Amino acid sequence: MPQLRKDPIVSRWVIVATERARRSAAFVDPVKHETSPEDCPFCHDRMSGEVYSGDGVKVLKDKTAFFTDAEPSTPRANGLYQISPSYGHHELVVESPEHIANMADLPAEQIGHVFRTYALRMRHHENDPLVKYVLAYKNYGVAAGSRSIGHARSQIMAIPVVPVRLQDKINGAKLYFDFHERSLFVDLVRQEQKEAERVVLETDHFIAFCPFAARFPFEVWIMPKPKHQHSDYSHGVEGLVPELAGVMKTLLLKYKAGLNDPAYNFVIQSAPASLGAEECYCWHIELLPRLTRVAGFERGTGFYINPIPPEMTAKFLREVKA
Ligand SMILES: [Zn+2]
Repeated sequence: MPQLRKDPIVSRWVIVATERARRSAAFVDPVKHETSPEDCPFCHDRMSGEVYSGDGVKVLKDKTAFFTDAEPSTPRANGLYQISPSYGHHELVVESPEHIANMADLPAEQIGHVFRTYALRMRHHENDPLVKYVLAYKNYGVAAGSRSIGHARSQIMAIPVVPVRLQDKINGAKLYFDFHERSLFVDLVRQEQKEAERVVLETDHFIAFCPFAARFPFEVWIMPKPKHQHSDYSHGVEGLVPELAGVMKTLLLKYKAGLNDPAYNFVIQSAPASLGAEECYCWHIELLPRLTRVAGFERGTGFYINPIPPEMTAKFLREVKA
């Protein structure tokens, strides 16, 4: 029977429609890479606009940036409509000097350098008083919003406003904390460990699980275990990077081997200290393979329809050899 499930953090409903699971063979095509190292803009030092370089990772100022780093003028309004200059920073993280497409195929050590670079850049931007939020994320494959260049890279956006999505998560976490005097994220990890059926893997300090109200099939969240809960990724990940890199490599290899090299996004959901959510919020990574398309019902309601229960996808991912 299909179920309506409620996300405990943002109270969003998801329809887990098991009847549709049989259609899962109609999943989108695997990622294709059309660029050879010879015409790759990220090989052979053809890159310009470098703002950071270390351990084989380069950070470039994105040429097609959506933001200007010129000091913003005062926002203005025209009746109901507000206009604000788009202040911020858009950076491209080139993850390796080698022409390797999927982060899954980088050595774990190199993945660690990438995750350490995210933390460095986030801390750098968080010192800018005009920046309210920094998002580190990855688009892999055209279906996930990337160009078909076979060189692993990810992105950092430092923006002048707090995104609604993060604010909703923080509001949910604060409400829970005020009522129960406990962190929602600590309770969530404990319940996942107890029920175990949605857990994909656990290490000393991390748990990776398919969330109860997963929006997408094979969605996985990676979260530090209770004793390492921290609201801000850039500080909370200190000392845990090699372990996190190993977890990411294993999960991405499971996607590649088990789901036929799918397009995917990942996003680091971090709340900087300025948002005052230290007690109640914990940073985490959402790993989102792009196997299905969002259609009219989702756009009209904000609900999602997930064709495969997360208990099934977690079991599948546990059993895929990576
Ligand atoms: Zn390349």
